[in-house]
Amino acid sequence: MTTLAAPTHLRENPFRIAQDQLDRVAEAFAIDQNLVNVLRQCKKAVVVSIPVVMDDGLIRTFDGYRVTHNIARGPSKGGIRYHPDVTLDEVKSLAMWMTWKCALMNIPFGGAKGGVVCDPKRLSQAELQKMTRRYTSEIINEIGPEKDIPAPDVGTDPAVMAWIFDTYSMNKGHSVLGVVTGKPLNVGGSLGRLEATSRGALYCIREALRKQSRPMADTAFAIQGFGNVGSFLAKFLAEEGARVVAVSDSRGGVYDANGLDVSAVLAHKQETGSLEGLRGVDSVTNEELLLVDCDVLAPCALEQVITSDNADRIKAKIICEGANGPTTPAADDILEDRGVLVLPDILANAGGVVVSYFEWVQGLQEYFWKENEVNARLNDIMTRAFNETWHTYEQRGTSMRLSAYGIAVQRVAEATMTRGLYP
Ligand code: NAD
Repeated sequence: MTTLAAPTHLRENPFRIAQDQLDRVAEAFAIDQNLVNVLRQCKKAVVVSIPVVMDDGLIRTFDGYRVTHNIARGPSKGGIRYHPDVTLDEVKSLAMWMTWKCALMNIPFGGAKGGVVCDPKRLSQAELQKMTRRYTSEIINEIGPEKDIPAPDVGTDPAVMAWIFDTYSMNKGHSVLGVVTGKPLNVGGSLGRLEATSRGALYCIREALRKQSRPMADTAFAIQGFGNVGSFLAKFLAEEGARVVAVSDSRGGVYDANGLDVSAVLAHKQETGSLEGLRGVDSVTNEELLLVDCDVLAPCALEQVITSDNADRIKAKIICEGANGPTTPAADDILEDRGVLVLPDILANAGGVVVSYFEWVQGLQEYFWKENEVNARLNDIMTRAFNETWHTYEQRGTSMRLSAYGIAVQRVAEATMTRGLYP
């Protein structure tokens, strides 16, 4: 197993964390060690080099990955990340978490993930497009609507998905709508996909507050990350009457104990590309944001931000993991001891892959649904998964994370047993 040179946001090897989590789940749910041995590894990992002629005429090569963790329950599904800190082990961990997420949602997908080591903010649109098209060509034999279906993640968006869709389709000689999800609406995207991860997190938070008989209107939220997931979550929470006291992006955040004017924050970010310079609010660092006085903390940026260094100082009583892997296992133990309710990533941020599933189904049928149909079906699936997890949590007295992972890993293990090990 490779561990690449210490990147900035990954203090621990994320793939080792994912494997340790699986071991814990296997022990708690008495899953056959033979199956665990299979599930601890990724089925396939492809490493590619992506040469690009840059705007200045020089050629730069970027490292890219596409990893499939498991396909026992269906074709593999998972986003593509463009970020300078991407490593193969990070992509492997994210691929494994996708397997559990799809199983928990009970949708017919396995898990995968992709990544390119780059800083998309420093590339021109032309460079980004060339890099995306070449990366797609390099992994073209790995992806496909019946095989492995990418989607957006950190640093990628509908425009990148459109280039992947087009590159794949040009090579096949016809439009293949089902090859990628998170596409723009005018080329086969689904209504509601852009906001789906945040909407799913909102449905989860709503259920958790209901269980604690706490009204949304009295609840204070702090949100780390103001990209796709964090910004729509802030918008939806404000629309529900909640108090969003703090938000941040990679450069830092803003805080107002009385509640931010979220529409003003969104407008400022859209106009200036930053949260800096917003009037009438206090500035907070990303570290401070995690510790502000609030009821619900939603990490919606990167992994390993809640650690043994800060877990005992977090004031929130509920953590909603919009990001994948934001809490380290050591922090998890501290939070559990302190009675903090953690809504785990594979539950809380699964709305994106659920609506990606809807987009894939719509693309295969070439028949598109209304937005309220998409949202109602998303609510059904999220609420069912939340209640199944809650039931296990209450029945077994395990954390929400262990409960969610337990349900998911059991489903994948059962599918593997039913299919049998080939040959
Ligand atoms: P994005 O690129 O749209 O936004 C990421 C945000 O995080 C940006 O605001 C960025 O400034 C901020 N950020 C980056 N580095 C940071 C740092 N060190 N500290 C604080 N903030 C930082 O990405 P996204 O799609 O919103 O994804 C965010 C998280 O949600 C990731 O963990 C991703 O895997 C997860 N997720 C995304 C989706 C989806 O549909 N997009 C689905 C499920 C999970």
